[in-house]
Amino acid sequence: MNSSILVINCGSSSLKFALIDSQNHQACLTGLAEKLGLADAYISFKFNGAKDTLALQEGNHSGAMHAILEKLQQLSLLDSVKAIGHRVVHGGEVFKESALITDEVIAEIERCAKLAPLHNPAHLLGIRTAIEQFPGLPQTVVFDTSFHQTMPRKAYLYAVPMSLYREHNVRRYGFHGTSYRYVAAEAAKMLGKPLEETAMVCAHLGNGASATAILGGKGVDTTMGLTPLEGLVMGTRSGDIDGNIFSYLASELGLDINGVTDLLNKKSGLLGLSELSNDCRELEEAAQNGHQGAIVALEVFAYRLAKHIAALTVALGRLDALLFTGGIGENSSFLREAVIKQLGFLGLKLDDDANRACIRGNAGRITTADSVPALVINTDEELMIAQDTARLVGLGA
Ligand code: AMP
Repeated sequence: MNSSILVINCGSSSLKFALIDSQNHQACLTGLAEKLGLADAYISFKFNGAKDTLALQEGNHSGAMHAILEKLQQLSLLDSVKAIGHRVVHGGEVFKESALITDEVIAEIERCAKLAPLHNPAHLLGIRTAIEQFPGLPQTVVFDTSFHQTMPRKAYLYAVPMSLYREHNVRRYGFHGTSYRYVAAEAAKMLGKPLEETAMVCAHLGNGASATAILGGKGVDTTMGLTPLEGLVMGTRSGDIDGNIFSYLASELGLDINGVTDLLNKKSGLLGLSELSNDCRELEEAAQNGHQGAIVALEVFAYRLAKHIAALTVALGRLDALLFTGGIGENSSFLREAVIKQLGFLGLKLDDDANRACIRGNAGRITTADSVPALVINTDEELMIAQDTARLVGLGA
């Protein structure tokens, strides 16, 4: 058995993991524990195409991690695991790259938790549980925010009193950085150009969605902000709004700050507009059947995205390629078409057949030969985390 890296993505009630082979970069074992903290918590494993699910006796993060350990033992894979890599959403301004876990690193992630109160505490729980269950294994953290730390001041500053930045860390951070790093490198390979010479806009479109301007492989502007609420229309998040909506809704609806925050993060976006679903595929089907809410939701999504892509080209000065990734970016030929057709003035011309062919894992170019290329690329954040981890622990994968 080759050496491998265990990649962990811990949420407040879920724990997703993948065991990545350091040589062939394949995920040999993957799994997901859900409903952690509830009586019916369970974990499912996928190994060699076969899936099995078991109820967790100890239905918390520790129980889930222990179940992973037992599974690795059962499959005689435990000895192959050389290190553990954790995904962490917010690294603030401190973490400009991935890091080996130390007590000081844990303390810094804790300090960043006020910027990502829903995510960082869950990641810390995952880190502490992994240290407990896998003592002696080196562990690393890979941040969604670090890729964007190369943004210039003019892109990351909000026009609010500077003391809010200096004393309260209020600025644009950006997210999905691990995905951007992977996709930009793959795109450069597809374009046959050194990454350092590329100017690209990448749209990572999943249930959460953002777009980023990437110049010479470095993030120079992005749509998400202090938190992942800003920018594009998302599954349940509003994206850009007028900040005064907070006080207006508070007085109109009698909501407190938490109530409005909840409305904008969990009940808005595609779900709020369509009054049907946050799921893009479901909305496309409904739109085809004439559902007006679904039609409007997809229209707003595509327009907002096209508008942001065009705005992001200002940070680049030119456009060598437009990249689509994430569940929607990799699969929705409908939305890619709707976006590209609004961006003809940037030199983008859709190839309809190629666009329709790029779904379910098929990556490639979806524009005509005389167009600025638009590429569909399947992201692989787990592989990126595994590669960073291997490098940091000296495995050289
Ligand atoms: P992610 O968060 O990256 O897993 O992406 C989830 C989103 O991708 C959901 O809105 C899905 O509906 C969407 N998606 C997945 N497959 C398709 C598809 N074939 N067509 C349209 N949207 C899709």
